[in-house]
Amino acid sequence: MTNTANQTIAGVMALVRPDLLAMSGYEPVEPVELTAARYGIAPERIAKLDGNENLYGPCSEAVAAVMQVPFQIYPDPDQRLLREALSAYTGVPADQIVAGAGSDELIDLVGRALLSPGDRIIDCPPAFGMYRFEADLCGAETVSVPRRPDFTLDSEALARAVDARTKIIFLTSPNNPTGNLLSRRELDAVLALGPAVVVDEAYIEFAGLDTSVAALVPQRQNLIVLRTFSKWAGLAGLRLGYGLLPAPFAALLRVIKQPYTPNAAAEAAGVASLQQLEPQMKRVRAIVAERDRLFPELAAIDYLDPIPSQANFILCRVTRGDARRLRDRLRERGVFIRYFNRDPLRDCIRVSVARPQDSDLLLEALRAIEP
Ligand SMILES: *Cc1c(COP(=O)(O)O)cnc(C)c1O
Repeated sequence: MTNTANQTIAGVMALVRPDLLAMSGYEPVEPVELTAARYGIAPERIAKLDGNENLYGPCSEAVAAVMQVPFQIYPDPDQRLLREALSAYTGVPADQIVAGAGSDELIDLVGRALLSPGDRIIDCPPAFGMYRFEADLCGAETVSVPRRPDFTLDSEALARAVDARTKIIFLTSPNNPTGNLLSRRELDAVLALGPAVVVDEAYIEFAGLDTSVAALVPQRQNLIVLRTFSKWAGLAGLRLGYGLLPAPFAALLRVIKQPYTPNAAAEAAGVASLQQLEPQMKRVRAIVAERDRLFPELAAIDYLDPIPSQANFILCRVTRGDARRLRDRLRERGVFIRYFNRDPLRDCIRVSVARPQDSDLLLEALRAIEP
């Protein structure tokens, strides 16, 4: 009996969409505890500077709010409290806001709403890897329009790249991993091309909220702004992000999304962070001050050429030796960073800006290493 079943049923893998079998997947950062334990490094000697997280953590008000959540009850599927608080924070009406389990969920929702197999997205490398991942997942194609050597957009090449199959242009401001802001002129040119324009503002609090393009959302039909609590608010592990969207599109996303994301703990922590902004904004200012202290110190390392950044990380060209080997040497010393050795970024590392003690561990290691 079982034999017959085995012979006639090929199994679930034979039923998988063929395009997914070739998918490479998103490259997440590896948990540092594993690597640290492997090298026998004490926790206080670890500087986790590879994920752009906020190492000060969330404000105590957010932690206290999580403790009050009745976890036995489903969260509000309409996200009323959270969307009202987000509306006050962003100046965008609540009916144009959708929250999710990280801005990653918003990228996924936008992709699922807009992309059919054969459609195209445009990304502008060096870019965040999640956009291409989403396109792959939806069976869409990614067209890359590399940024210019100074990391501004190549507006002419972008205009040439758009065709009838192009549904979404993904931009990041400040950009990850280069740290530069999108200019208003660049944005206007891209908005005029026609496809949906996603401006991912994951790091905008570190650049200053006055550099955000959120205020344009109510005036434009094809502008989507994504934000997250993962970086400025120290809530990466709780997963909380949101989109600011044209009103009818926000309504559509509410129809197609899973009803109970973000979870109740994330929602409570988010509302608390927004209601008591000052403690968390103080940490944002401390990180910005640390960025200003760290930059000249990195520039003084004779094999590094740091690039000015508006975010909580600094990209550096490695002008001597091998960026990958530098990454490995730093890791052996408990300092975790990202390295890039793929076009258009070669021989580069990206270090997150965190607390002064984290920078000190980084600088001490960099000074001791010959890459
Ligand atoms: C870190 C980051 C995010 C955050 O994603 P979440 O899912 O909200 O944690 C989004 N976009 C970019 C460019 C990022 O670097």
